[in-house]
Amino acid sequence: MDRLDLRSDTVTWPTAAMRQAMANAPVGDDVYGEDPTVNELESLAAEMLGHEAGLFVSSGTQGNLIAMLTHCQRGEEAIMGEDAHTYLWEAGGMAVLGGIVPKTLPTDSHGRLSIPQILSQINPLDNHKPRTKLICTENSSGGNNGAAIPLDYFLALRELADTHHLRLHLDGARLFNATTALGIPAADIGRVVDSASICLSKGLCAPVGSVLVGGRAFIAEARRNRKLLGGGMRQAGVLAAAGLLALREMTQRLAEDHATAKQLAEGLATIPHIEINPDVVETNMVFFALHDDAPLTAAQLIAQLKAEHNIWLGGYGGRKLRAVTHYWVQPADVVRCLQAIKDVMNH
Ligand SMILES: *Cc1c(COP(=O)(O)O)cnc(C)c1O
Repeated sequence: MDRLDLRSDTVTWPTAAMRQAMANAPVGDDVYGEDPTVNELESLAAEMLGHEAGLFVSSGTQGNLIAMLTHCQRGEEAIMGEDAHTYLWEAGGMAVLGGIVPKTLPTDSHGRLSIPQILSQINPLDNHKPRTKLICTENSSGGNNGAAIPLDYFLALRELADTHHLRLHLDGARLFNATTALGIPAADIGRVVDSASICLSKGLCAPVGSVLVGGRAFIAEARRNRKLLGGGMRQAGVLAAAGLLALREMTQRLAEDHATAKQLAEGLATIPHIEINPDVVETNMVFFALHDDAPLTAAQLIAQLKAEHNIWLGGYGGRKLRAVTHYWVQPADVVRCLQAIKDVMNH
């Protein structure tokens, strides 16, 4: 049985067209700014997100870290959601390497921080206080069922940031999923923020890499910070070649992944002992939980699906599970997954 891997969209391997493009990519020394394929990728990402310039980086974590190091000095404060990837899942890099103080606030069902609450949490200029400098947001919101945050929220944040001389960074690892769900171009949200990072290696199928975008001066400084972190790469065009296809082609098909996620969620809702509300599935993530009276635990369900059906799901602690759809998951795979879960639950 073929493996069906629903743990994350990070498991996507490059397409045949990507491997071909990688083999044939023109390359040069990117630290010298001479890799034509990297330069093309950076320009394309900037254009698609409504910015002047881009920077190819090794990962989403590195993109967010470089953005934060570039926006903030040591002892400055960044406001973000308490469920933000940057806060929870990036090894505390902003604090470890940047001396940046995170201030976390609760978020709503879509991962939005409340605007009045942000306002009340901006520190006054006072020698006792960290200087509030940056607001970080995430779209789609991985901690909130992959919800897509609409444009109006970013416009409201922009107004607040301008009034209070703050910067805005968007962790847009899955921004194209969000804007696909919203039915708007990524640039509509991209141009509202000062910087954004997008991931090429999740649902977009490239093997490696993210792009950070922003203004020309910001990206020039970010390039220095990338070097400082050891992230300057040489003939990285072999990677950027896959990234170009990710941006040109794979961004156009994400609605298919959202449809398979919905199909999975609606199927799960019909299985006894499973708790899920399919209405909250807006993009490619499906979070669900097992009832207390389920015949097996989440860990047992995951182990049996893997052992008996070669289907891989993600555990999310306790009774919670996660399935993420992507390019390598077809509607027939969803049917297979639902049948396998029913089988295992009925042992
Ligand atoms: C995956 C992810 C990142 C980090 O990306 P890596 O490439 O795994 O470092 C950052 N933010 C969000 C929202 C993500 O989903």
